Formats: sequence, structure tokens, C-alpha cells
Amino acid sequence: MIRFVLASNNKKKLIELRDLLSDMDIEVLSRAEAGYAFEVEETGESFEENAYLKAKAVTDATGLPAIAEDSGLMVDALGGAPGVYSARLGGDSCKTDADRNALLLEKTKNVELRSARFVSCIACTFPNGDVLRARGECEGEILTAPRGENGFGYDPVFRPSGYDKSMAEMTLWEKNSISHRGKSLAEFKKLLVKYLNPKRTMT
Ligand code: IMP
Repeated sequence: MIRFVLASNNKKKLIELRDLLSDMDIEVLSRAEAGYAFEVEETGESFEENAYLKAKAVTDATGLPAIAEDSGLMVDALGGAPGVYSARLGGDSCKTDADRNALLLEKTKNVELRSARFVSCIACTFPNGDVLRARGECEGEILTAPRGENGFGYDPVFRPSGYDKSMAEMTLWEKNSISHRGKSLAEFKKLLVKYLNPKRTMT
């Protein structure tokens, strides 16, 4: 059993990641379980860069392999915003997910082109300097009002393409099977299996 640290403070992400990685012989430690308390500043200009910065800082501090994921919502009509600023949309005036969703709906109020996508980038850093990287996207559109209670973040205002419900109206299983994070993790799992056992390939 190999222990990885999840370089994130987001409890719901930890639950999603543990669920997605539950069929692998690895243990995912939370920040508290790994015994570190610092926040890594997301100063990168891309999801890829931020994921790497977060994982590397945790591997450097703990001496353990670390998995970091950086994700966000890109809205076409807003030129790809909020993007890497998804968690900070509205700055101090938005304190909750509901505030950020309300602001996003306000910004897209008169917008006809409602296409958007969730993007997830994973970086996994090892103490020997090796790095694994994966990316996943989920296409959809911004709704005109929030729907559903599940999930987190922008889930209530995002309808994945091909579905008649918001991401927040899906079960965790349903969401993971189509989500950006589900896809980046599926790719990451393949890379990890290959990395840990180069002679074996996963179907
Ligand atoms: P970070 O990756 O922790 O920096 O935060 C990404 C932000 O993007 C979150 O705080 C959410 O606002 C948004 N986000 C990322 N993934 C999801 C998702 O699966 N559902 C809804 N919002 C998400």
C-alpha cells in the first residue's frame, strides 16, 4: 500500500478522489493526516501549473508522493473566466458557493451562448522528482437558475451536455462517471499503474 498525500483542503474533493481511487491499492491522506498545515498559493496562470505548484510543495514538505488537482469552470461568453479564479470569483464580496453562483448568473444574464466546461488538471509529484500529469474536461452549459443540492461549487448552475439535469442533481456516482475530475483521474490512474508497475498495462 503506497501512501499519497492529497494536496488540498477541500473535504468534498477528498471524498470524490477517495471514491474514484478506491479500487487501487493506495491510501490517500488528507492534509491533517499527513501533518502539514500550510496553504500553497495558486499563483500559476493555468490549471496545469497550479496543480504542479501544489503537489511539489507538499512532496517537498512531507517527503511523500503528493497528488494535487486544480480545477475550475471556463465560460465561453466570459472569455474562459472564471478559469483559474473559479474559487475566488467575486473576491471578498462572494463568501459562499451560492454567492459565486449568483454572481455568475448575473454576469451571464443576457448571454445567449451559454457553453462552458469544467476542467481538471492533476499533478502527482514523487520525492525523486518524477511527475505524472493528467487532464479532463466536461462540456456543458450554464443554466439560468441554480438546480439541485448535491456536489459543490458551480454544480447547481452547470448542465452537462446530453443531460437534462444540473451537476448538483446527480448522484456522486453519476457525477464521477462524466465529470472533468472523473476523466482526469481515470487518465491519472492509468499513468500511475504504468508508473508503479511498468511491465503491467491496464485495459
Ligand atoms: P481549486 O481547484 O480547489 O482551486 O478550486 C476550483 C474551484 O472550481 C472550486 O472552488 C469550484 O468553485 C470550481 N469547481 C471545480 N470543480 C468543480 C466541480 O466538480 N463542481 C463545481 N465546481 C467545481
